Amino acid sequence: MSEFDYDLFVIGAGSGGVRAARIAATHGARVAIAEEHRYGGTCVIRGCVPKKLLVYASQFSESFEDAAGFGWDVGARSFDWKALIAAKDREINRLEGIYRGNLERSGVALFDSRAELDGPNAVRLVKDGRRVTAAKILIATGGAPNNDMRLEGVEHTITSNEVFYLPEFPKRVVIAGGGFIAVEFAGIFNGLGSETTLIYRGEEILRGFDDDLRQALHAEMEKKGIRVITEDVFSRIEKTDTGLIGHTNAGEQIEADQILMAIGRNPNTKGLGLEGAGVKLDAAGAIRVDERSRTNVPSVFAVGDVTNRVNLTPVAIREGHAFADTEFGGKPVSVDHSMVPAAVFSQPEIGTVGLTETEARARHSSLDIYRASFRPMKHTLSGRDEKMLMKLIVDADTDRVLGVHVMGPDSGELVQVLGIALKMGATKADFDATMAVHPTAAEELVTMREPSERVRREAAE
Ligand code: NDP
Repeated sequence: MSEFDYDLFVIGAGSGGVRAARIAATHGARVAIAEEHRYGGTCVIRGCVPKKLLVYASQFSESFEDAAGFGWDVGARSFDWKALIAAKDREINRLEGIYRGNLERSGVALFDSRAELDGPNAVRLVKDGRRVTAAKILIATGGAPNNDMRLEGVEHTITSNEVFYLPEFPKRVVIAGGGFIAVEFAGIFNGLGSETTLIYRGEEILRGFDDDLRQALHAEMEKKGIRVITEDVFSRIEKTDTGLIGHTNAGEQIEADQILMAIGRNPNTKGLGLEGAGVKLDAAGAIRVDERSRTNVPSVFAVGDVTNRVNLTPVAIREGHAFADTEFGGKPVSVDHSMVPAAVFSQPEIGTVGLTETEARARHSSLDIYRASFRPMKHTLSGRDEKMLMKLIVDADTDRVLGVHVMGPDSGELVQVLGIALKMGATKADFDATMAVHPTAAEELVTMREPSERVRREAAE
């Protein structure tokens, strides 16, 4: 009989924690998990899943407009925010039930409580003060929205935690930030009919993405009626009788019903008892781990956003699975964090995998850049002025495709498949040897003959 209550105690039932708990249990470990909020974590409850449902909802307005070009008369339209949120909530409740059920069926013990470390082999359940011991503890507490607490009037703003539960539909929305969440919600609110403004401190939105994508998305967002302000930030938020006014450094006063702060997320490590257990954090407050998700304390591990590696749900799931296989399945596995495909559910959507042009120029001396920008076929009849962008970055020395960047309908779906090819080390010749599928937008990827630009060492210097 073990000296511990459990072989594994997982703190946090989000994507990473749930996967780790279930896989460890299937390997025969005695597993418990604690969750202070709701099972499923950020992605399922107030992140990826409800966000995508809202994206779908917001796309109907353009579909109704586009339908006219195909002979349809859609008639009067109206939108009911409360009905949308209620439908979304029903789906999220269903998913949460599935998460709980799967854990229970795997034999995992569930604690609906916040849990904090109480030394290297124990947790304290905050709800009833109980102390539970475990041979190994996995921290999978994710992240939480960052907010600028020095901003006067910040208490009148909301974050991505609240945006999914607004009781009233905001007719005027201002979104601060230029990252994933900011551009996604700008598209959502604009599509649903809000007067939408995005305010970003930098020169161009989506820092870290390929520059052509950043500029192309910016242009398309403006065409759709979103006001995009760059190189400015809020200096003060004022509450008035009719709503809010966001005062900016440049002297603008922007009226809004809601101001959404989408200025990044922080690892959820505060008050977890990590310091007491001797677990080391980095400067950003994330738990430091090695390639096997081990902290500096031998019995404590961490996966997902709390470790601030690649903050995406599928990565957290992989890390959780690899941890369970390594520690309980006798199969040591490390997660490969390179060439991770990702989508941004902006409108138009973005799909990206591999190096950006800037990264490729810094690392390679000879590049061929293939760029295509065209109107998707659907819009020949709809009349919509929207461009699709496709870009391939090829190492001219080896012919290897280093990066693919796509903006347009279903780019997320496209880049999932492109990710396989790039992970396998596909060359431009492999792309060229692949027969086109006609008529699709994706056929452009295998029919780009001449580089738009040849970068050679002289040019890169
Ligand atoms: P991001 O890190 O993507 O973007 C944060 C944005 O806020 C940046 O534009 C940043 O500017 C800006 N910012 C940061 N601090 C301040 C400040 N003090 N004042 C003004 N602006 C500031 O974070 P998000 O909140 O958009 O998303 C969080 C994470 O969630 C993402 O990194 C991603 O991992 C994940 N996510 C993934 C999605 C997907 O896969 N589709 C969807 C949504 C979220 P700057 O660029 O200048 O630093």
